[in-house]
Amino acid sequence: MSLQERIQHVQERIEAACGRSGRNPAEVRVIAVTKYVSIEITRSVLESGILHLGENRPGVAVPKWEALGGQGIWHFIGHLQSRKVKDIVGKFAYIHSLDRLSLAQELDKRAAATGAEVKAFLQVNVSGEASKQGIKPEEAEAFLREAAQFPHVKIVGLMTMAPESDDPELTRPVFRGLRELRDELNAKGVTNEPLTELSMGMSGDFEVAVEEGATWVRLGTLLVGKGEET
Ligand SMILES: *Cc1c(COP(=O)(O)O)cnc(C)c1O
Repeated sequence: MSLQERIQHVQERIEAACGRSGRNPAEVRVIAVTKYVSIEITRSVLESGILHLGENRPGVAVPKWEALGGQGIWHFIGHLQSRKVKDIVGKFAYIHSLDRLSLAQELDKRAAATGAEVKAFLQVNVSGEASKQGIKPEEAEAFLREAAQFPHVKIVGLMTMAPESDDPELTRPVFRGLRELRDELNAKGVTNEPLTELSMGMSGDFEVAVEEGATWVRLGTLLVGKGEET
């Protein structure tokens, strides 16, 4: 399948998942995860009309961003070391992996210095797997209250990763848990403005994530491939 066909195919699957769950497909946005592929393929992804790109390593992503002249809207989706923050603030509009207050503080400091605002997702480890990053669900409220002191970091929603599984249905409770947590936090009025966004769903499980309320899906393998082909 060509890139254009893959985009079409993903869009149809998102629309079908929205149909099954009574959602509006316009609420679901796709991030093309280009972390596996070259600058050339990343350029062709942008040229195909995809606006949102996801990367997870500053050392690879920053040269790519520079080669592409900063076109597109960039999402940082991996574990972020505080000392790398200065390299990505001003280039990446969204950070999906906010998982500690010291990172929020560093993002705030660097964003303030550049006059930028960083949008962030609080990463939550809903599944409880030891291998997963993110804070515990029960820590989210206190985290968000503390993070209000960092005005240049705008937390727009929550992010999670589901356990890897051949059966996407097993991921459903994790995605549902993230949505319920967001709704609870909003009902309590924990943040100044309600958290609207849910970043959840990857190539193997995005349809279930959409059914459970994802507003951003992060698609690498299925959409842009792993680099052997365009
Ligand atoms: C790599 C990655 C993805 C994309 O994974 P695929 O299964 O290739 O779609 C999504 N989210 C995060 C956090 C990732 O690291």
